[in-house]
Amino acid sequence: MKTLLKCGCLITLDENSSVLRDSDVLIEDGKIKEIGKNLNAEDCGIIDLSSHTVMPGLVNAHTHSPMIIFRSLADDCPLDQWLNKHIWPAEKEISNDDIRIAALYSILEMLRYGITSFSDMYRHSTVIAEAVSTTGIKATIADSITCKPEEKPEDLCSVKECIDLIRSWNNYGDGLLKTDTSIQSPWQTTPALWECIARIAEEYGIGIHMHLAETEKEVDDFINRYGKSPLVMFEKAGVLQSRISAAHCSFLTDDDLDAASRAHSFHAIHDPASNMKMCSGLANLKRLAERGINIAVGTDGVCSSNSYDIFETLKLASLVQKSITGDPAFLPAMELLRMATANGLKAQGRREKGMIVPGQDADIIAISNDTGMIPDFNPAANLIYSCNASHVTMTMVRGRILYKDGEYMTIDKEMVRDEFIRRARRFRSFAL
Ligand SMILES: [Zn+2]
Repeated sequence: MKTLLKCGCLITLDENSSVLRDSDVLIEDGKIKEIGKNLNAEDCGIIDLSSHTVMPGLVNAHTHSPMIIFRSLADDCPLDQWLNKHIWPAEKEISNDDIRIAALYSILEMLRYGITSFSDMYRHSTVIAEAVSTTGIKATIADSITCKPEEKPEDLCSVKECIDLIRSWNNYGDGLLKTDTSIQSPWQTTPALWECIARIAEEYGIGIHMHLAETEKEVDDFINRYGKSPLVMFEKAGVLQSRISAAHCSFLTDDDLDAASRAHSFHAIHDPASNMKMCSGLANLKRLAERGINIAVGTDGVCSSNSYDIFETLKLASLVQKSITGDPAFLPAMELLRMATANGLKAQGRREKGMIVPGQDADIIAISNDTGMIPDFNPAANLIYSCNASHVTMTMVRGRILYKDGEYMTIDKEMVRDEFIRRARRFRSFAL
């Protein structure tokens, strides 16, 4: 099966940051075979994207897909009130069927917004993996694990579920699905749990997804309790010998940064929308970049950030970082696009490069060259500063179109949407 994309503008994100005009992309058996002008179209299905900008698919490197069911449940309130009065009580009522339908609804929105791969962390993740496996999107899924001091890690249901998840779903569909283990956060877990998770990650050769240093208070409390900062303690427990996807990283100490630099494979996931909306703090990305730390982006749960729009996430990241560093040249548009492609794939432990070059998976999206995209002196800058994700018209994973012009090829949009709305209504009593 061969497909030829006829692209008006092609942002390859290759090593030279090549932007090609009026070029074709030939796709065969899910892989990019050739790029060039006027390629031979014999035996090809042709997709006319001459009025589009085409780029590698976006990676949402940190979210909690089922939590979309709590979108707009409680906005504009402090983090502790949001958690204690609204989200946590509502979560007590969430069923496996809610989780399945909400995860599917999240995938509808993510595909609509050009996301071809996402990293998820939530409870009952085997239910999520099963749902994801029917859609064709790539995902790295982790079961969210917390542990109280009186609990033995080996006895926790979430640890058992995590091992089930890894055994049943890791590398499903030739790597379409991957699994990680997790440490929900340093403050919600114990040293015994960290050692247990380090062993699981090493045994199965997988990564560890976590929330890290999201608020100043949690880091202060942690240091008061243990005498050292979180990553220093994680290093001692063996956690940093595996790949780490750490969401937030807003209040890393110098000791943490030293530990991250020594780590086997440490990736910071920046989530500016949820950080700023909750006033929980914000990472200074220059401090991380100066240490050579890979930085990817995430939307976080849509119950806190409200949107899966990665272009919006990148614009927020850019504007805030320029503002706090006083450096308008920091994070240029092309580098921001890499944060949402190549860097996200690295954080997921994937071999894919997030480039449109021969040999790579054809994970490709198209954006209409319409409002906000003209003139196109710098198409990458247009994508960051004047476009939004609703301009995406096509999302393809491994050469298979999953979304195009309002239609989904692998998900029953009406069924999922109606069922999602019906189930969401049950949570109305927890709303602000
Ligand atoms: Zn999160």
